[in-house]
Amino acid sequence: MDIDIVSVFPEYFDVLNLSLFGKAIDRGLVTVHTHNLRQWTHDVHQSVDDTPVGGGAGMVMKPEVWAECIDELLGFGGAVDGSAPDADTADANGTADANGTADANGTADAPVLIFPNPSAPVFTQQDATELSRARHLVFGCGRYEGYDARIPVYYRERGVDVREYSIGDYVLNGGEVAVSVMLEAITRLLPGFMGNAASIVEESYTGANALLEHNQYTKPATWRGIGVPPVLISGDHGKVDRFRRDEALEKTSRIRPDLIERLDCATLSKADRKT
Ligand code: SAM
Repeated sequence: MDIDIVSVFPEYFDVLNLSLFGKAIDRGLVTVHTHNLRQWTHDVHQSVDDTPVGGGAGMVMKPEVWAECIDELLGFGGAVDGSAPDADTADANGTADANGTADANGTADAPVLIFPNPSAPVFTQQDATELSRARHLVFGCGRYEGYDARIPVYYRERGVDVREYSIGDYVLNGGEVAVSVMLEAITRLLPGFMGNAASIVEESYTGANALLEHNQYTKPATWRGIGVPPVLISGDHGKVDRFRRDEALEKTSRIRPDLIERLDCATLSKADRKT
């Protein structure tokens, strides 16, 4: 997977060289290119922002600078006059079909352009799963009051798969942390990224009927007077599975009733329904 990240603070992403992500880079599983948005400016101050049209506080990121950057990263050589080369190849979903077809591994060639934005739909595990099948992701980190709203419109109209996502109901100073969050959620799903592939199969939010995961415990069986649930050391795998499933259902109903409402009831067993 090729990843381009554009930011006015590209140093934020130096940490990607650490831990599992760093290993994935070393092994060639992912390549990451960080870019300073200011390299696409032409004025002496390298300004990327301007005052909001219609008035108001703060500054807004300029569309011209972002567009020069995105045109280059997406290979839109002819876009200066507003006509992107892929414009006439977009399919009904707005995906550039020249590159947009998935191969046998379910990998899609068409680049996906992603902007973090607190006023967009919330990024979910389902989005992470879908994006983990893309070959090329381009992230644009907003700052100040955000980016000019015409940028995503322009690229969508030219058949680019543009996504805007919030990572939660709060406002950060910039998109860098949000991109780091999305990037980690996406890349850990790449085949070969995790040391143990099984660790991503049964997790919170994962699968068709996503629940919160049951609680996890390790040794010792009693720690500071608190024991683990006895069934977990009973050696009865059937009972352990049932206990964990019940705990996941109970926990999800209590903490995230919205997830329970979205469950496909037809897939719930009799025992599930009792919980
Ligand atoms: N004026 C915007 C608003 O009220 O919705 C907030 C802009 S915020 C200070 C600057 C940038 O940080 C945004 O353009 C976005 O890239 C990023 N950002 C802030 N909070 C975010 C969140 N919850 N999710 C995703 N991105 C966020």
